[in-house]
Amino acid sequence: MKAEIITIGDELLIGQVIDTNSAFIGAELTYNGIRVVQRTAVSDTKEAILGALDAARKRAEIVIITGGLGPTKDDITKVTLAEYFRTELVMNAEVLADVELFFSKFGKTVSDVNRKQALVPASCKALRNFNGTAPGMWFDAEGVVVVSLPGVPYEMKSLFSEQVLPLLRQRFEMPVVLQRTIMTQGIGESVLAERIEQWEDEITAAGMKLAYLPAPGIVRLRVMIDGADREHCSTLLDDAVQKLLPLIEKWTFATEDISLPVALGERLKASGKTLCTAESCTGGYIAHLITGVPGSSAYYLGSTLTYANKAKTDLLQIPQDLIQNNGAVSEEVVTAMAQQARKIIGADYALATSGIAGPDGGTAEKPVGTVWIALAGPDGTVAQKFLFGDNRERNITRAALTALMMLYKQLA
Ligand code: ATP
Ligand code: MG
Repeated sequence: MKAEIITIGDELLIGQVIDTNSAFIGAELTYNGIRVVQRTAVSDTKEAILGALDAARKRAEIVIITGGLGPTKDDITKVTLAEYFRTELVMNAEVLADVELFFSKFGKTVSDVNRKQALVPASCKALRNFNGTAPGMWFDAEGVVVVSLPGVPYEMKSLFSEQVLPLLRQRFEMPVVLQRTIMTQGIGESVLAERIEQWEDEITAAGMKLAYLPAPGIVRLRVMIDGADREHCSTLLDDAVQKLLPLIEKWTFATEDISLPVALGERLKASGKTLCTAESCTGGYIAHLITGVPGSSAYYLGSTLTYANKAKTDLLQIPQDLIQNNGAVSEEVVTAMAQQARKIIGADYALATSGIAGPDGGTAEKPVGTVWIALAGPDGTVAQKFLFGDNRERNITRAALTALMMLYKQLA
């Protein structure tokens, strides 16, 4: 099954808007076993739209179009499609009711311009838009399905996922495509690949595909399979994941596509324990990651951001001698930071960081990328030294994630 994507709008051509619609639709179609063979961006002119549509219909059985459905004069997709399919625009009562409801929700009356949104080509199936006023349109002619969707990304996405995909499944014989995601922290892509090489060979031989999706500090593993039988595919995937987990247990924090702060938050909630932080080189980034999770107030108490030595002594009462004798980036200081934060803020656990994020400040003994992380808890304090890289931003990210992972494992 082949598909093409056409995005309409001058703003896409001049670089004013990035074409994220194509990226979303391309990924969704691929995931559902449909091969995207071409994507085209065209201007808001009749000639451009007709040219792209005509060419796409010769190459693919499915053509998805976005954009140009607004009520303004520059949006001409609808009239162009009506002309192309030799049909007339007729008032669609259901769509009109949707448009009226959409405006009444905001206490507004519908203008004539907006009422025009309910004019739909007679030969198409109108797809109701519950997030805006422009309906989607489904044309099925000469063996090719052409779908036109609004350009506004969130309107397009819900129409595509909730209506277009189910209709495509009815209309075409589509393979089952299933996937599982395993989230890891603290192991590099190449080391990970070496570790699971044999397993990867086995699952590849069994018809599965593995993708490594790395981000700083994190590698996401995605296992995919397609076939005709959903249950069989699902069993194969589950078996594959069960064989994988013991090989990478130390670094795994989820078997679904969730972030580490979310996974840690679930563990903290389940255990009924609380957390606080004392950050130096991560500059509050750990706190930011934790508080980005809805509901984090159930387990996160707060933080001290003690960047300078003076702040460490003033706010956390770290003895000046301790810093002078060992340096701020040391096991002794990071341990004291975690213990003091735990005591002063009064949480079950405290995470502390102290390091040299770079690009300056490194020495032969403590090069850029050196980070000490401590975790203080009811059973004592552990501190560990890490040597990340030479990129400041990535060092901060990796240090923060590594700290979160230390606690995640502790709570196992
Ligand atoms: P509207 O009712 O808003 O006019 P429409 O279907 O006519 O909807 P457009 O006018 O083409 O859509 O685009 C609406 C907005 O959606 C644009 O301002 C643009 O920011 C965004 N948009 C359009 N096409 C894309 C695309 N391919 N990728 C990402 N954003 C897009
Ligand atoms: Mg437009």
